[in-house]
Amino acid sequence: MIEALLIDKEQGARQTTARFATLPDTAVADDEATLDGAMVRVAWSSLNYKDALAITGRAPVVRRFPMVPGIDLAGTRSADGRAVLATGFGLGERYWGGLATQARVPDDWLIPIPPPLSVRQAMAIGTAGFTALLCLEALEAHGVTPASGPVVVSGASGGVGSIAVMLLARLGYDVAAMTGRPAEESFLTGLGARRIVARAEYEQPGKPLAAEEWAAAIDVAGGHVLANLCARLRPGGVVAACGLAGGMDLPASVAPFILRGITLAGIDSVHCPVARRAGVWARLATLLDPAQLDAMTSEVAFADVIAAAHDLLEGRLRGRVVVRLPA
Ligand code: NDP
Repeated sequence: MIEALLIDKEQGARQTTARFATLPDTAVADDEATLDGAMVRVAWSSLNYKDALAITGRAPVVRRFPMVPGIDLAGTRSADGRAVLATGFGLGERYWGGLATQARVPDDWLIPIPPPLSVRQAMAIGTAGFTALLCLEALEAHGVTPASGPVVVSGASGGVGSIAVMLLARLGYDVAAMTGRPAEESFLTGLGARRIVARAEYEQPGKPLAAEEWAAAIDVAGGHVLANLCARLRPGGVVAACGLAGGMDLPASVAPFILRGITLAGIDSVHCPVARRAGVWARLATLLDPAQLDAMTSEVAFADVIAAAHDLLEGRLRGRVVVRLPA
């Protein structure tokens, strides 16, 4: 039998519901994309912003019902007992995802978990860490190095943000952590941030061009935060934009683009090509300190995942959250 979290939507209803269910093994999704996939015994999943939106029904993330949410999963491939992970590709949105004890996933979506990471640590990284490294690599692709100057990370107490801070600090960057939670200052300096920036300074409409401050930025917020980051980049600066925690809009002007030559690099982890993924994971396994990763990870029991999804959206969680599936 499979223990699963299921998201449902009644015909004609606007709101989705989330409930726990015990299903026969045969119930694992029969979508075309996953029909020929490998069976994975899921041991750990994680809680990302998108999962929280799906579970609470706060945004239309789920494309098909009933749906097992969970954009990340890690466990054992049944065929060979190998420890594997999968993130993105529409898992938990279009295809049954990681918040179930079993999943069926196309073989080329599965990445062998690179040593020294444990299965749990792979999920402590999850889509959030994967995306943080894609953001970092976007900055690098545009010539940003530690010598370029200070780099700021928004949403720094969250999943993507906290791992971005860790990665940048590990590589020797002068990292500033932007947060709306002043109480998390010591958490953020512990991750390697050299200074804290108040989110409030960036949340209001700003000037098209402001004082040149940052060589680069990693942004999870969108909205005014992203617009103000663009306005405060130094000439030639780069911002990697991956999120909408502060809003979907981009109330910006072209001024920083045409007067300072800045670059806005969009990041999409879901459709990251298969050929690139193993290399990204290998780099994450090399760069992240497992002990530091463990220290910023909290664990949620499967039975508590709905409550944790609400907590995440209310800003009551920090760092990364892993979910232990029942044995
Ligand atoms: P988390 O909830 O873990 O972190 C989000 C953080 O954003 C919060 O911790 C908070 O940090 C900050 N935040 C909250 N509300 C606001 C606000 N109104 N304005 C500005 N900042 C705010 O989520 P994740 O790290 O999992 O995801 C972050 C974002 O990145 C989400 O929008 C998510 O959808 C997106 N994302 C995109 C991916 C892609 O492929 N493009 C992949 C993964 C995530 P603090 O309190 O420190 O300010």
